[in-house]
Amino acid sequence: MLTIKRKSLLYRTGVEYGDFTINHVLGCSHGCMYPCYAFMMARRFGRVRDYADWIQPRLVENAIDLLKKEIPKYRNRIKSVHLCFTTDPFMVGYPEIQEMSLEIIRYLDSQGIICSALTKGILPIQLADFRKNHHWGISLVSLNDEFRKSYEPFSASYNERISSMKELRSLGCKTWVSIEPYPTPNIVNQRLEPILDSIGSVDKIVFGRLHYNSLVSKQADFQDFYNSTANKLINYCTKRCIDYHIKHKTICVDSTNA
Ligand code: SF4
Repeated sequence: MLTIKRKSLLYRTGVEYGDFTINHVLGCSHGCMYPCYAFMMARRFGRVRDYADWIQPRLVENAIDLLKKEIPKYRNRIKSVHLCFTTDPFMVGYPEIQEMSLEIIRYLDSQGIICSALTKGILPIQLADFRKNHHWGISLVSLNDEFRKSYEPFSASYNERISSMKELRSLGCKTWVSIEPYPTPNIVNQRLEPILDSIGSVDKIVFGRLHYNSLVSKQADFQDFYNSTANKLINYCTKRCIDYHIKHKTICVDSTNA
């Protein structure tokens, strides 16, 4: 696969529920069409030319060397390290990426650093070999395969994602689900409950609305929709003692649909 070299790797993310993060790949073959915020930023700052360029991932070949240099520098400030916010650590069809992601996690694990991972691919079973205080997660905003084919065209099927997560859970790992960016009914008409039922028992759920898509504002009362869906999720999690995070600007009490 294509590779690049970087000058730095580890940094503190601006994502509201994150701490430090690593993105050891430029681009993402999953090619999500919500649109993908990471793609929009990469194109805006000239890191990729266009969508075709974005879905040709480039692995950061010196990622492990950088990590070993940077960990001592940030060690006392790190609460956790997340893989990844601007790419996918377990990209479908790229074993080299999975291998490097596992190598990064192995190193962090050996240093006693808590990790989390999030994928629209398949969580590898090798994650069960690490200490059990990490969090392994999948992204799941629908169970509708037609939606997946249109909006997450090169990702793993929903069933594969869910099964890989459940298998890790059965082996004692902590698991989580990102239900973000959740689409409005005019994009896919669905209920939240079957999605929640499909994931079963997890340690944490993150929920957030869809941004940067003009169809959202065409949905009548979209803010009411997000308010009520987020409240359903809060009730669901509260009843089952599941930790949850509702992303900023998902719930708006002064509902003006702005
Ligand atoms: S999996 Fe994540 S990083 Fe990759 S294209 Fe989809 S939203 Fe973007």
